[in-house]
Amino acid sequence: MRTPEDELATLSEEGLLRSLRRMESGQLICANSDGRKVVNFSSNDYLGLSRDEALVNAACEATRRHGSGSGASRLISGTLPPHHALEEKIAEWKGTQAALSFANGYATAIGVLGAFLTKGDVVILDKLCHASLIDGARQSKATLRVYPHNDLNKLEDLLRHYRERLPANSRLIVVTESIFSMDGDRAPLPEIINLVEQHHALLLLDEAHAVGILGSGGQGLAEELGIQDRVTFQMGTLGKAIGSGGGYIAASRSWIDLLLNKARPFIYSTAPPPAQAAASLCGIEVITSSRGEALRNRLWSNISRLAELLGKNPCSAIMPVILGTNEAALNASLALLETGFLAPAIRFPTVPRGSARLRITLSAEHTAESIEGLHKNLLKSS
Ligand SMILES: *Cc1c(COP(=O)(O)O)cnc(C)c1O
Repeated sequence: MRTPEDELATLSEEGLLRSLRRMESGQLICANSDGRKVVNFSSNDYLGLSRDEALVNAACEATRRHGSGSGASRLISGTLPPHHALEEKIAEWKGTQAALSFANGYATAIGVLGAFLTKGDVVILDKLCHASLIDGARQSKATLRVYPHNDLNKLEDLLRHYRERLPANSRLIVVTESIFSMDGDRAPLPEIINLVEQHHALLLLDEAHAVGILGSGGQGLAEELGIQDRVTFQMGTLGKAIGSGGGYIAASRSWIDLLLNKARPFIYSTAPPPAQAAASLCGIEVITSSRGEALRNRLWSNISRLAELLGKNPCSAIMPVILGTNEAALNASLALLETGFLAPAIRFPTVPRGSARLRITLSAEHTAESIEGLHKNLLKSS
């Protein structure tokens, strides 16, 4: 029998061994790692909301009022007032009839694809979709097809092929992210939606890295482009810019009713603690307020600053510096850490082999000084 030590040794030889980093706070700009102060360029807390006083108070207040745990699954007796309030807010924000929240974004992807797809259906994913979407598609028993990243011609071919062959009763679902998590680039959303509609398919859009950053009220890319109402399933996480934890789907009432009847991670799991739902609701309230708009503007001026220094287009808060080998990425990340900047090395299987990289994420809380310091040391280390 193979031992865990053998497997760990293999991972280590390939430069693919991972370990936990001890942080005093995952979110502070000045995080404490191994006793040293570092500027954190690795968090997805894009607006700094996870330590915002309003969210922290909302979580404490919900805990005092409703308890630290929900006590049961959502369908039994675990649905408490903060869950209802959160889901009503998400639906209003996203312009849909209804919404459903989950324990996290991963469970949301598994839940929605598992609930809506079955044998005989077809799910078509962008090659760079997040692991949660791939895992959900795989577990669903539907036929899984992948198109090269943002390749509209290939997507159209696949849609045409399956639309001609699928029985009328079967589902055809296209899955993409709006901002891709490891590359920070955008999907050609209007073109994708046109193709989806032409071929009578459904669209699952994961806005994990667009929510809080794009859109008039931080709803994401679809709202920014004025096409929110043409997305069948608007998905996202409550754990990144929203500053709490959880995931959601916003859609029409019937889809949400079906989801709560069939999504296994929703049904067979204890409802998330009331504090999580209350902090999420507060996060969305902040994001849609004038304070949220000011935070978004600060984030965008930081994005523009680093994009200019790196000679890239300012697409999103995610800026990869692709280095190729695992070793190059690990060494660059370590060298940056020595100079007081945390930017993690991202390796296979999170990204394709040969495209190991530093993944830099910006926050509204970064200063021009820290961004310039990161850039200067980046040049030295990579
Ligand atoms: C982070 C992420 C998820 C998972 O969300 P969690 O709440 O962290 O589980 C899903 N999709 C994408 C694109 C992500 O980046």
